[in-house]
Order: sequence, then structure tokens, then C-alpha cells
Amino acid sequence: MLQVHCLVLLSLCYGALAMPRPQNDDDGMSPDDWEFAKEYLNKFYPMTNKGRSAFTERLEAMQKFFRMKVTGKLDKGTMDMMKSPRCGMPDVAEFTTFNGRPRWQKTSITYRMLNYTPDLPAPVVDDAIRRALNVWSQVTPLSFTKVNSGDADILIQFSAQSHGDQNPFDGPSGVLAHAYAPGPRIGGDAHFDEGERWTNNQAGFNLFLVAAHEFGHSLGLGHSDDRRALMFPTYQFVNTNNFRLSQDDVNGIQSLYGRRRQ
Ligand SMILES: [Zn+2]
Ligand SMILES: [Zn+2]
Repeated sequence: MLQVHCLVLLSLCYGALAMPRPQNDDDGMSPDDWEFAKEYLNKFYPMTNKGRSAFTERLEAMQKFFRMKVTGKLDKGTMDMMKSPRCGMPDVAEFTTFNGRPRWQKTSITYRMLNYTPDLPAPVVDDAIRRALNVWSQVTPLSFTKVNSGDADILIQFSAQSHGDQNPFDGPSGVLAHAYAPGPRIGGDAHFDEGERWTNNQAGFNLFLVAAHEFGHSLGLGHSDDRRALMFPTYQFVNTNNFRLSQDDVNGIQSLYGRRRQ
């Protein structure tokens, strides 16, 4: 809780400092853009800073993460990246959920669908979820079993806006989904924004691709800054037939669980 308070204070401070900022040194961003950028950095780069403007420092961390030119300026390219549809988890290792490299202390993992999106027939959703988990079980000793009642390690739900955790969804685009690192209760759970149009093709957002990314978090992976990685934080459609993880994703998951046993 202390950390949350710090962040709020920092962003308030910045708000006060930002007002007299000249309009001409940052590509003419509108007040809405500044507000969007502040919220984006609070959400996805939640590290605390002392000294220099927390905003500039976090903007630079964001530009570095996305391998953009690190200017500390809110230019159009940076703004475009901020507005790309993406995962709701932060981009920095400091995120507390991932401290201590949490992982499941077993290889047989259960999952359960708490509800279904009306965007797709239930069997299509089930198939997308099964294939998304399979992406990870192909390269590790993990196996996944669907249960239809009671508790499960990975509870899966589609929800709009506020849905019982501290991370409300935001309607169409923006944040698409989020998932929690391995642990009891909410640990491992994956939430999908019902504000999106979920598909099994390249229209809207492909449920298999987003689910495969989120399950990476459910198993203990944070974001990767490798653009080819499934664990890169922004959404990009790729051909889902014979989908394969990048080497970076394989290295990450095998560092937690080892290789698949022959
Ligand atoms: Zn993510
Ligand atoms: Zn949630």
C-alpha cells in the first residue's frame, strides 16, 4: 500500500509541475495526450523515483523498453506506442507480483472457465484456451487439466470494467487482458476484457494469441522487450497455425520449469 501512495503523490507532483510546460517542445501533444501518458506510465512503469521528474524518468524507461530513441520527450512515436492495444501487466521487473520468481511447485496444473465471451461459441473458446496452454506445455514438463467446478489453479473469466480486483478494464482496445503470477487465490488467474471483440481469426483480437500471452504470466513470466517474443506487451496478430514460441519465450519458461521430459 505504501508504494501505491508514493505513486499517487508523485503523479500529483508531476501534475503541478506539468502545467507551465511549453506547448512547443513535445510535438504539440494535447492535454488529453498528457493525461493519457501520465496514466499509462503510472500503470505500466510503476517504479518509484527520487530526484528527477518521475514522469521523464519513466518515459525514458518506456522508450528504452520499446527500443525507441530515448529522449524523455512525449513525441508522436512514443504516443502511438502508448496507444497500441496491449496487455494490462506492467513492463518492469519491479512489479511486486513477480518478485521472488514465483512458479507453480507442481507440474499438473488445473484451469477452469468461470464464464464465456458471447463473441464466440463456447467450444471455440475452449479450443483457443486449450491451444494457448498447449503452447507452454509443449516446451516444459507442465500439463493442464480443465475442471468444471470447484477451485482451480488458473481461473479464467471475461469481464468488463471493474471486476473484483484492483485493475478495472477500459472498454475497447487499450488494455486487452491481464493475469496474475503463480500463487494461491487470485494467483495464476487470467482476466479478459469483455469490452474487446474476441475472435479466432485476424479480426478484432485473437483470443488464442492473447490467452497464450496471459498464460505466460499465469506461469510466472513477466514481459520481454524482445519484439519477436509472445511476452512482448503489445498485441500483434501473427499466423496462429502451427504457432511457435520465440526462443526468448522458451528460454524464459524453461528457466522456471526446465525442459519437457522425453
Ligand atoms: Zn502481459
Ligand atoms: Zn482482473
